[in-house]
Amino acid sequence: MSETKKRQEHFENTKKCLETIIFMIKLVWKTKPVLLLVYALLLIGDVFDRAWQIFLPKLMMDELQLFLAGAEASRHLHTLGVYAVISVGASLAVGLIGSITGDHATQVIGEWFQEYIDIDIARQAMEMDFEHTEDPDALDALNKAKEGMSWYSGGVVGVLGEAQRVLSNALVIFGGIGVVLMTCPLLVPVQLVSLVGFLYFNMRINKIEVRHFEELAKDNRIFGYIFFQLSQLQYGKDIRLYNSVGMMGRKADAHAEQMVSTWRRQNLKSRSNNWAMDGINMLRDAVSYFYIGYLAITHRISLGDFSMCVAAASVLYQGLFSMANGLQQIVKRCNYAHRYLEYLQYPAAMEKGSRSVQKGEHIIEFADVSFRYPRAENYVLRHINLTIRSGEHLSIVGLNGAGKTTLVKLLCRLYDVTEGKILIDGVNIKEYSEEEYRRLFAVVFQDFELFAFSMKENVALADTEHADQEKIAEVLKLTGLLEDVEKLPEGMDTMIFKSYDEHGTELSGGQQQKTAIARALYRNAPIVILDEPTAALDPIAEYEIYRQFETLVGGKTAIYISHRLSSCRFCDRIAVFADDTIKEYGTHDELVNREGGIYAEMFHEQAKYYVDIA
Ligand code: ADP
Repeated sequence: MSETKKRQEHFENTKKCLETIIFMIKLVWKTKPVLLLVYALLLIGDVFDRAWQIFLPKLMMDELQLFLAGAEASRHLHTLGVYAVISVGASLAVGLIGSITGDHATQVIGEWFQEYIDIDIARQAMEMDFEHTEDPDALDALNKAKEGMSWYSGGVVGVLGEAQRVLSNALVIFGGIGVVLMTCPLLVPVQLVSLVGFLYFNMRINKIEVRHFEELAKDNRIFGYIFFQLSQLQYGKDIRLYNSVGMMGRKADAHAEQMVSTWRRQNLKSRSNNWAMDGINMLRDAVSYFYIGYLAITHRISLGDFSMCVAAASVLYQGLFSMANGLQQIVKRCNYAHRYLEYLQYPAAMEKGSRSVQKGEHIIEFADVSFRYPRAENYVLRHINLTIRSGEHLSIVGLNGAGKTTLVKLLCRLYDVTEGKILIDGVNIKEYSEEEYRRLFAVVFQDFELFAFSMKENVALADTEHADQEKIAEVLKLTGLLEDVEKLPEGMDTMIFKSYDEHGTELSGGQQQKTAIARALYRNAPIVILDEPTAALDPIAEYEIYRQFETLVGGKTAIYISHRLSSCRFCDRIAVFADDTIKEYGTHDELVNREGGIYAEMFHEQAKYYVDIA
């Protein structure tokens, strides 16, 4: 690496370190300021303790010599006693501060911060642009933030604790150097030269560790994914029926082995650097003690100064050692922890608007919209032109993979269009405030998610604390689920799934879909979208759901997606998707008799169901 590059890297690391420490001090000040007091006490105790270790031998030795010389023996004896009491008292006080504040800081507050950060990362993950949930770089950043703020850096307490130790070492070294310069000055260059050597090799070890961290993060993420899949009950069916435990286990083993091999390579590369550091330490001690001994033997320093130099050399050595280590540690810890700061600033994938959505009726327009998924080559939708008037009920039909769900995702702004515009009330949807905009929609996707919470919470979801029981019962009734729920041991308060409650209930596929639909009904948004949430229902049940839904949706705008055509019977317009675009558009009557039409063909194929229903 060139000198300029090295300097640049050094500068970057220092900047990251300062940013991380300032960020953490601000965070602590805002959330748990008592931790700063704890560190201040630890700092004072530590500095006093080590300063006393340097001066005590000299003070004692000088008093002892005067006492032995016989002059005012009792006064010197008394002073010696005072020193002894101070020593014992100080070390007791320092020990006490250390054990009370130190343990409290590192364990209790540390644990608190660990949870605080975990929750914050999870919250950020839920708030990040949806597009990022499929972006490997964003997922990697998320994972690195999590790992960087946990055992890699020790989190807030790991970084600030190290900073406090570096600061107290700096103060001790500063004082120690002063003492040494006055009595045994050559010790300073000896210590400093050895420090430079020590820092050099320690830095190499840290760099090796940071480099391997990148590799470990990826394997760890994949290993974590497989572990998660194996431990999720809901995937148990597929995993068992397809005998995939072995395959998944082998994959997990391969990544675990990869991690072990990365650790091994890291250790091997660090080994020679560790040996070099041991050599430097030995050489420094030999030179220091030889030098102090020489000064004493040749009567250049007193016996008291000799004791002080020996003590100062030892304190200085330990201080420099801890400081060197601490500096490297803090750079390393900050490097890891900084990934959390980077994650917090991860660039948004989408433009953020601030415009308010107008009240009342809404008109939706797709103006020449084309779209391809991020990092994908092919367009999924091309030149879509579509207007949905307020209160209109539109049915979107088409074969699997025709782009129906994608259209809904674009409308809900989970992704931004690649070309063209989507307008609501004549305004590009990018201009609206995200939060207000999302409130326009109640959507049930085919891959909706139910949570291991109570039935009531699953329906109300956003405002569970003020959940309206009557309204929940009403929507459960509308979806035909109320009777089933009333039979549950705790009614609406029964937990869904047995993961966290042995009395929880396992819902059938159809019941789960009905719950998701009830959730959308409860939300009471002006635009309702059902994206094939009825796939697990038989055609008659599906027909019933749509019919019930129509009653409730009434004058709201509604978009129904289904590859079965039962939904079309209620709709004002039908858009038929094929070949990445809208191939047919019109009313049921217009399309059903169109010669060679896609809709006409689909309808006649499925007609038997509707004959039954009718
Ligand atoms: P439909 O709802 O009509 O069944 P989709 O809108 O789900 O179809 O999918 C349209 C096309 O987009 C399919 O070819 C699908 O593979 C692709 N697709 C869907 N989701 C993604 C994604 N997140 N990333 C890349 N391609 C996707």
